[in-house]
Amino acid sequence: MRTYSIAIIGVGKIAQDQHLPVIARDKRFKLAAVVSQRGVARPGIPSFHTPAELYAALPELDAVAICTPPHVRHSIAREALDAGKQVLLEKPPAPTMAEMHDLTSYAAARRRVIFATWHSQYNEAVDLARKLMAGRKLRSLHIEWKEDVKRWHPGQEWIWDAGNFGVFDPGINALSILTRIMPEPAFIQSADLLFPANRDTPIAASLTMKSPAMETASSKLTADFDWRQEGDQSWNIDIELDDATKLRLTDGGSRLWVNGAMRFEAPSEEYEAIYRHFAQLLDKGESAMDAAPFQLVADAFLVGRRRTIASFNW
Ligand code: NAP
Repeated sequence: MRTYSIAIIGVGKIAQDQHLPVIARDKRFKLAAVVSQRGVARPGIPSFHTPAELYAALPELDAVAICTPPHVRHSIAREALDAGKQVLLEKPPAPTMAEMHDLTSYAAARRRVIFATWHSQYNEAVDLARKLMAGRKLRSLHIEWKEDVKRWHPGQEWIWDAGNFGVFDPGINALSILTRIMPEPAFIQSADLLFPANRDTPIAASLTMKSPAMETASSKLTADFDWRQEGDQSWNIDIELDDATKLRLTDGGSRLWVNGAMRFEAPSEEYEAIYRHFAQLLDKGESAMDAAPFQLVADAFLVGRRRTIASFNW
């Protein structure tokens, strides 16, 4: 089987926590270089300050994984496609739907693979929940995604810049599980968005959705995202099916409970599965640009009511 040479663009937290160690263990990929504005380097691996320097120095490079914040991703991805590279995008794939769709068609026109990763979808517990929900009506579904921004994003000023999602940065992970497990599509009905007075992205959001999969028009399909949670962190989805079966996905989708009993748990290997899938896509020359989680976030901003609350400081 072919091994693909790959470079990481943006050597921040997720690149260091996941992409670099996972690529190092994956026989289908070989790390060829990193691109880092700050000049972060890896032993024995060339480091470039810009993608242009990378493409000039390593013309045979197969692929890049773009691990920057979303607002700069579109131009970096286009530049990679222009250089003839295959592209893996961290989530969320772009700051706007139009830019995401542009990347899909731009890659297709150049016969290159582009892959929008949604890491939370790569959990076996999520697949199992999807199977248990297939063809069923739902009495209720509630997402509770509450974490402490100071713990998980220390010093990441970009998350408060317009175009970088705020609390939807983790919230979109929950929505990527939702769009994967729902038997039929979900639609945003209303959203309450809480913006700190000194910031351009929300720190909390409550969503009300509807879906033909719900048992009745009044069956609740809701989500609460909050970045102000101290102590225990909550990344849970509670579902009640039409036969009163209760499903509960916890720990970001890595554990599934059925009627209060643990049904499945496995160590998180989301990024191992992402790179396995990327290798398959490259082998087949196929792209995968699932826009459904992104559409829900975009719609929440479209219909959302904005409330200004106390300033946020680190
Ligand atoms: P981060 O620690 O701030 O790293 C982002 C890196 O991108 C920076 O360190 C910088 O690296 C590079 N960069 C390029 N242009 C930049 C710009 N204009 N502003 C700031 N940085 C720029 O962020 P992260 O947590 O790794 O998140 C990056 C992406 O991964 C986000 O879309 C996020 O949603 C996603 N993600 C994060 C996590 C997580 O646990 N943190 C988990 C899953 C997905 P260089 O100086 O090396 O160029």
